Amino acid sequence: MSLKTALARIKSIPGLQKRFNIFISVNHGAERQLQDSSPELALSNLVAGVKDNIVMKGLPTTCGSRMLVDYESPYDASCVQELRDAGVVIAGKTNLDEFGMGSGGVHSYFGPVLNPMYPNSKVVAGGSSSGSAAAVAAGAVDFALGTDTGGSVRLPASYCAVLGFKPSYGRISRFGVVAYAQSLDTVGIIAKDISIIRRVFKVIDKYDPKDPTSLGVGYRKKASAIFRKRDKLRIGVPQEFLQQSICDQYKDLFQQFIEKLMRIGHEIYPVSIPSIKDSLPIYYTLSPAEAVSNLSRFDGVRYGTRNDISDIENGVLFAPTRNNFGREVQDRIILGNYNLCSETFKNNYVKAQKLRLQMMNQFDEIFRDSNILSNFKGNESGVDLIIGLTATSTPPTINSFLKAESSSPTNEYLNDVFTMPMSLAGLPTLSMPIAKEIPLGVQIAAQYANDNAVLEFADGIL
Ligand code: GLN
Repeated sequence: MSLKTALARIKSIPGLQKRFNIFISVNHGAERQLQDSSPELALSNLVAGVKDNIVMKGLPTTCGSRMLVDYESPYDASCVQELRDAGVVIAGKTNLDEFGMGSGGVHSYFGPVLNPMYPNSKVVAGGSSSGSAAAVAAGAVDFALGTDTGGSVRLPASYCAVLGFKPSYGRISRFGVVAYAQSLDTVGIIAKDISIIRRVFKVIDKYDPKDPTSLGVGYRKKASAIFRKRDKLRIGVPQEFLQQSICDQYKDLFQQFIEKLMRIGHEIYPVSIPSIKDSLPIYYTLSPAEAVSNLSRFDGVRYGTRNDISDIENGVLFAPTRNNFGREVQDRIILGNYNLCSETFKNNYVKAQKLRLQMMNQFDEIFRDSNILSNFKGNESGVDLIIGLTATSTPPTINSFLKAESSSPTNEYLNDVFTMPMSLAGLPTLSMPIAKEIPLGVQIAAQYANDNAVLEFADGIL
């Protein structure tokens, strides 16, 4: 990448920002930082966006919430630090659904992100890493960091016709990433070019002692050992993904994609992971439960903007301050507390944990590779990769998205039906446009920790 291109990207930001509302804050020193930085580093002259739930010094971290409008972190998240050390200049913090909760990019205190693929109408960019995907699609940055808890890197990548990579759980440090649901949260990379995703991943795919869930060095060695370069792959198509209500046009595109893979010489097999049908209830039982505990720190004392009205008026502690959360976040708090209360804990939370484990085991069974974390040794007749669509459709307009959501809040939850299973199993997954410039993604996943298999495959067909 040349310095000239990088500077042009920075110069385009104010105009793009006005049209698409991509950023929550912009780094006004970016131009100077680019000019001052060494051209010899691993990622020199690359301009990046960072989702605004990942902390960095010098710009606020709002999580798209009124609760954090004036919060500025005293330190950089580990992944941001690694990027800066490798020469990346951060152009700004990207807009998102508040605290990562949503799939349309419409639940931000700073207003919705508009999809740059549709410059003449108001179309959703997908969420929750809406600004990150839009920044890449609009050409404001070379790549952007997002976070993916249940699909938030892959769905916006699909809607904005770019690549979105969610690595295996634990590969990129979460230190400095504001937790949504810590057993699922993953930092992901969005770009137009697979080679940029690979270069960036190489830099931030590191053990971090500051993150207790970071994959240890020994496991990383085992992960490298399970990767085998194969020209002809066995690729599974989970049948559960085909049974959803997908229109014929998208089914045809998927069929054409499969035929392309067969022409290259890959073998396609139908596979079944029956638990996929349970992923939405499992996800929406576990993730709000984890979110409730993470959000408890925003009490106006430790973190969060305190409301002007006294928090102890009428004997109600924290209520006015907690009202700084938007509606979606408040809904999740109620749902999470409900799932954890004594009457429902066993029937909901514990059951969801058991079902999650069952799903992980079913995923294991279909893969040829072993799982470095479980005792699974690999299925000799199993597949190397699985594929399916990322989204059930191309992106809706903002109006139709809001209309569907107001008729029932759970309508929005259906958008992630294809992405959640891989999040629950922690699998490395890449979403890429099904055909050039088409805002519908196809996702490719591999056995846990075999991120290289996914990236190598994508490299081969893009
Ligand atoms: N849409 C899902 C949710 O609202 C996924 C979000 C995410 O991956 N951060 O929970």
